[in-house]
Amino acid sequence: MNENPEQTPLIALRSVSKIYRSGDVEVAALRSVDFTVEHGDFVAIMGSSGSGKSTLMNILGCLDRPTSGQYLLEGQDVSRLDRNDLAIVRNRTLGFVFQSFNLLARTSALENVELPMLYAGLPARERRQRAREALERVGLGARLDHHPRQLSGGQQQRVAIARALVSRPRVILADEPTGNLDSRTSVEVMALFQELRREGITLVLVTHEPDIAGYAGRVVVVKDGRILSDRRQQPVPAEVPPLEEAAS
Ligand code: ADP
Ligand code: MG
Repeated sequence: MNENPEQTPLIALRSVSKIYRSGDVEVAALRSVDFTVEHGDFVAIMGSSGSGKSTLMNILGCLDRPTSGQYLLEGQDVSRLDRNDLAIVRNRTLGFVFQSFNLLARTSALENVELPMLYAGLPARERRQRAREALERVGLGARLDHHPRQLSGGQQQRVAIARALVSRPRVILADEPTGNLDSRTSVEVMALFQELRREGITLVLVTHEPDIAGYAGRVVVVKDGRILSDRRQQPVPAEVPPLEEAAS
């Protein structure tokens, strides 16, 4: 183990390749990618469709393994772990947010957020307490009993973020988290991500939209399975404009 864990990059990919084989056809979705994420980074990954963004996120998220190369997560080589051990690392370190929210429809916000802890075997009282806190943290403390269809898209995505937060991850991985949201609601979600970032959570998100990438502190562009560019920037503060009087 490293003497000073805070100096070990949170995420380090070393020459990671991912090749998909179907029959005789091979697709190199990632080609010798070197990629490091430091504690507290807020990274936006951009690139056209088919460039390898989701493949990269699946590997970062321990949902898939590289064909070759190394993945060090908090200094631990996770590239050769089996499914069970990957699941343990995933539950301990990572939180996921998806474009389509992936909430259970006939289930309250509170129960949706409790779900990951149910799988982790936490007692009911603690599950409920932690789910409530997570929903309060995303500004939904007054909507614990609402079902997804009673919530706006932005509120549903905030429930999904609360569900990601409840297992106290080091990193949140989000694939197109604002892809189904209007621009105002997207800014709300990005404001929440910036707040989590200030609280010390590391964020990696995929987006097609340059405006959304502007809220991150670092933009990585992927093309044909390679990193084309990687630059740091001053993030734009995500400020939701007040609603027009006439509109309310
Ligand atoms: P992006 O998310 O940037 O659109 P992907 O990572 O989904 O790109 O895909 C990168 C490349 O890998 C594409 O050419 C895609 O067709 C291919 N690919 C992705 N997943 C699979 C798979 N499971 N089997 C075969 N090819 C795949
Ligand atoms: Mg994709």
